[in-house]
Amino acid sequence: MQHRDIEAWDQVWTGANLATMVEGSDPYGALIDGAVAVRGERIAWIGSTSEALPRAKAVGARVHDAAGLWLTPGLIDCHTHLVYGGDRVAEYEMRLKGATYEQIARAGGGIQSTVSATRTASSDELMAAARLRAQRLMAEGITTLEIKSGYGLELSSERRMLEVARQLGRELALAVRTTYLGLHALPPEFRSDRKGYVDAVSGPWLKTLCEAQLVDAVDAFCENIAFTVAETRQFLSAAARLNLRAHVHAGQLSDLGAAELAAEFAALSADHLEYLSAGGAAALKQSGTVAVLLPCAYFMLRQTDPPPIALLREAGVPLAVATDCNPGTSPCTSLLLALSMACTLFGLTPEEALAGATRNAARALGLGEDRGTLCVGKRADFALWRIGQPAELCYALGANPLVGAVFGGRTRVSAMIGAAQKI
Ligand SMILES: [Zn+2]
Repeated sequence: MQHRDIEAWDQVWTGANLATMVEGSDPYGALIDGAVAVRGERIAWIGSTSEALPRAKAVGARVHDAAGLWLTPGLIDCHTHLVYGGDRVAEYEMRLKGATYEQIARAGGGIQSTVSATRTASSDELMAAARLRAQRLMAEGITTLEIKSGYGLELSSERRMLEVARQLGRELALAVRTTYLGLHALPPEFRSDRKGYVDAVSGPWLKTLCEAQLVDAVDAFCENIAFTVAETRQFLSAAARLNLRAHVHAGQLSDLGAAELAAEFAALSADHLEYLSAGGAAALKQSGTVAVLLPCAYFMLRQTDPPPIALLREAGVPLAVATDCNPGTSPCTSLLLALSMACTLFGLTPEEALAGATRNAARALGLGEDRGTLCVGKRADFALWRIGQPAELCYALGANPLVGAVFGGRTRVSAMIGAAQKI
């Protein structure tokens, strides 16, 4: 009996420099002149090109000559608000022309304008806008994308947002994880009934969306301008009873103890963290919660106190980096730009930043066993880059050196690159 399974490769990428992003090995887990063999949707073998070529011939696998390109795991954007109606361009322009927040609010700006636009947009309109944004991310090698609700603030609109997110995952060569951001902002109709809103979100709304299989995880904006620790705890408790894991928007503008709360619920991630105590960092380490850094929002808000990276490093908290794509504080559809900002504004090393968009981003979505590094058995999601070394992905500000991406073993031609390129 031959070991057919071991050698049953469908295709193999050869001549590539691999940044496997496997922890604890060489920088970037690099393997020069390496090869990745794929069977079905999974990575079947990783090794040298010289070893791969005769094997590929023996088993009749299709060979793709990557000719000196760098091959990384497919990038993962683990924090976005990608589905929304309208935009906030006019508000951005007004502000830069000197309008005050009050004038902007009177002109209908702010988060409520996005809520109104999302509620009134048709599902097709939401889909068309979100598809374009997703394609822009895909053009940079993103293969897994997290999308939050949170601009509907009523059951039917939240449901529509999550349905559009699910539909994007079905339609595009992209994995989508959905997050019910139940506590984002208080909708106008509940302005005098906070308790009623938190009860609805934590009770019937969560149950309905969960039963419709629209929710992979939940999220809450725990902040002095949003929801309190007690309100967030009520929501996360309800989610935990339904076996849903959580993300928490924590410490963006102040330290309310939201990181500690995230740790209490063994949340998948605590996101933002510009304001975080040593105790909060230790708690995140203890609970295995990933710190998701969102430098584009920090940049847009012109914040001046970055997250305490040294503290997080010292505590051993895994760091991820995401776009936070949203119309108000981060209208960004470039994860590479976020990586660059994570280095320049927050002081991450390029290797930490890239781990933040691969290995640790997968962990932040509860998918660390399945993707995020180049490892035998993991999903065959990867990106091919025309770069001299991996740090260039952070260094080359505003450039997009992607040549192509592979999603579950299928070559995906970037929508934005246009013509098919031979890989
Ligand atoms: Zn966010």
